[in-house]
Amino acid sequence: MKKLAVLVALLSITAVNFAQTMPKDADPVLWAKALKIHKKSIVIDGHNDITGPMMDMDFDLAKDSTGMMQSGGDPMHTDIARWKKGGMTGQFMSIYVSGGTLRTGGSMRRAMELIDVTNREAEKHSKDLTPCTTAAEIRRAKKQNKICLLMGIEGGYAIENSLYALRNFYRLGVRYMTLTHNVATDWADAHRDIKHNGLTDWGKEVVREMNRLGIFIDISHVSEKVMMDALDVTKAPVIASHSGARGVNDHTRNVSDAVLKRLPQNGGVIMVVFYPSFLDARTNKEENERSARLRPQVEALREKFKGDNAGFNKAENELLAANPIYVPDYKRIVDHIDHIKNTAGIDHVGLGSDFDGVPFLPAGMNGAEDLPLITYEMLRRGYSETDIRKVLGENLLRAMSQMEKVAAGRQISGQGSLEKLAPPKLN
Ligand SMILES: [Zn+2]
Repeated sequence: MKKLAVLVALLSITAVNFAQTMPKDADPVLWAKALKIHKKSIVIDGHNDITGPMMDMDFDLAKDSTGMMQSGGDPMHTDIARWKKGGMTGQFMSIYVSGGTLRTGGSMRRAMELIDVTNREAEKHSKDLTPCTTAAEIRRAKKQNKICLLMGIEGGYAIENSLYALRNFYRLGVRYMTLTHNVATDWADAHRDIKHNGLTDWGKEVVREMNRLGIFIDISHVSEKVMMDALDVTKAPVIASHSGARGVNDHTRNVSDAVLKRLPQNGGVIMVVFYPSFLDARTNKEENERSARLRPQVEALREKFKGDNAGFNKAENELLAANPIYVPDYKRIVDHIDHIKNTAGIDHVGLGSDFDGVPFLPAGMNGAEDLPLITYEMLRRGYSETDIRKVLGENLLRAMSQMEKVAAGRQISGQGSLEKLAPPKLN
């Protein structure tokens, strides 16, 4: 009896946490079904940049971020309550290091700091959060009604051309690495910065070492040739932690059909990004045109509000609001899911929001609380419950288990130098 009472209490807490606002045009019966499926499912998001505000604004994940702005003026999308509302099980926290660190240095320190702040938040809010590094831990957290914090490095600069550092990042819990951000590393090209014609020989060594350790090769942000080279070398599934399909919007941040067609063999997962400019060609064009057109006015505001960051952010946001662009709604995310499903198969698609890393989201999507919208839209389009669960998280779990198997039994430390090739010299 006592057990039952606890169970009822637990269920009602979950129900409250799950209170969702139904979209205006939704069918209430289908919406209720979508929420039911979503609640049962393991939900994994490939990419979240809330680590930036955690580090730079001392943002505490227990705080309500609704309506808050990041220091750069962008709206915030994440906190523990919003994750709960959105049914989050496993959140990859972005350990983001910018390409600018190639000039300034400090990339490894920045990564270390973001890893620390992520772990400290997990420790501080251990009732709701738990650090995870394996597929089994994600499944366990779901049973415990907790949210897993996983970590992925965004920007291979963080290893500073050192496989020794890569091994230590693995030990600290890092489970994917985006080989580049928008600037090429010394060993891999970025989507808009081509220097090496793909992966260098040392870059291929990085991929092999990531296989050996059990770190996903994340092909978001790299050039198509790097994606192909990585697929040639890797023995484990790759992921794109936050990219769309070029077949829907031909943007270099997205993944081509040629790459998608290699996924059934590789086992990898493309986790669809929510950023409207990657989802939609018209938004991308209008956003680029707007920022070029408004540049002189933004510069003038920067001058006017020198030393007053909040004032500048407010004025800039007002200027942008007065110059609106086309933004698709959340259904556009599912257009990309559809395309990847039709080209690579349902086993190769997931979710990679880029919450807190983008200036705006699709219409109807306010932040982490709104993930059930995607479940609803998949259900509306006739996806089966099994297929929906694959997209929400099961595909990533399968790929992760596969990666763990590739790494299993391989030695983590070796005697002396494991390096076969000399790394590129760091500037
Ligand atoms: Zn990114």
